[in-house]
Amino acid sequence: MPTTSTTTSPPTAPTATSSQIINADHPRWNEFLDALGAALDRTKCKGGMSKVLSRRIMRDMGLDRAAIAESCRWFETWGGYCDCEVLSNVSWWAEVVSGEEEEE
Ligand SMILES: [Zn+2]
Repeated sequence: MPTTSTTTSPPTAPTATSSQIINADHPRWNEFLDALGAALDRTKCKGGMSKVLSRRIMRDMGLDRAAIAESCRWFETWGGYCDCEVLSNVSWWAEVVSGEEEEE
């Protein structure tokens, strides 16, 4: 085993990396959904394109502005235009994708 192997690290992007964007592949995805569900229990969804609760949670989780904007775009791709739609539409879709190990 060569001990002096040069570690080829990918160039660090100055903007959002995929690991910072909250989506179904994110290790804290469930944490995000739990927080969003709890927030929607307390605060009524404003509807339309409002994602104030989602944005606040992502900010609390330490995402920067670019990552939050990217995440919101991703939510909208899956029908999550407002906070309650992110919780219902996007989480439903994520479950379908991640639940592939279930046969039926
Ligand atoms: Zn809504």
